[in-house]
Amino acid sequence: MPQRMAKSLGRRLALCALALWAALLWGCAHGSLEGEGEVTLFQVSTIDALMEGAFQGQVSVGRLARQGDLGIGTFHALDGEMVILEGRVYQVRADGKVRLADPDLTTPFANVVRFRPQRVIQLQGEMSLDELCRALDQALPSPNLLYAVRLDGAFAYLKARSVPAQERPYPKLVEVVKRQSVFEFRQVQGTVLGFRCPEFVKGVNVPGWHLHFLDQTRNAGGHVLELRIKDPRVEVVTVNRFVMVLPTGGEFMHSDLVTDKAADLHTVEKGR
Ligand SMILES: [Zn+2]
Repeated sequence: MPQRMAKSLGRRLALCALALWAALLWGCAHGSLEGEGEVTLFQVSTIDALMEGAFQGQVSVGRLARQGDLGIGTFHALDGEMVILEGRVYQVRADGKVRLADPDLTTPFANVVRFRPQRVIQLQGEMSLDELCRALDQALPSPNLLYAVRLDGAFAYLKARSVPAQERPYPKLVEVVKRQSVFEFRQVQGTVLGFRCPEFVKGVNVPGWHLHFLDQTRNAGGHVLELRIKDPRVEVVTVNRFVMVLPTGGEFMHSDLVTDKAADLHTVEKGR
């Protein structure tokens, strides 16, 4: 083979290898096992482990952010509420301050999806959190799928909470929320986002709705306890694939994940 041809063949092979490598990387980063039309919820640990005080961080914020761009959760030692919006991970601490989470921080519990809205549900009238959730339940096609939602708007009222960082030995979550910080907002612009899960996720995630809030200035937020909004417009993604990373160390290893925690979960989620 003439030297010039060999050289160009070599260059072409190198280019092919580079393209293949890039495709592989892209596949890894975007969940190559995801089938066409499938949307994945990536979850760290289980809600019942968090209820039991398994607050040791497992997955870094940096890795979590590579799994999706919209999500909720908490941080190592339960140091505040997590809001992931447009790929940025925000930490709403118990003092009410919000900061961008360091990529090296870790999470003991989080949920994240790649949020590409598939439908918009336009509701009419002013509604509370319970009314909003019921109206969405009626508008969604099935109670047996998972949904990620995003609601941007002006809230006449919104009540959110955050939780203070804990020290070992970690208490149960139901004990921590007795000392939660509650923030009340009036006439606030912002984004409510989160998930609706089916009843069958009991023990693994929160059956029903789990929503967090971030205001438009990105300076306030938390886990949503109550709200009032007029004519909410809700963007929805249907989630039909589930990936869960379980801790292989820390309190998780010896947590009681057998006893039913539904009553305590209700207290923790609703703050009442
Ligand atoms: Zn929450």
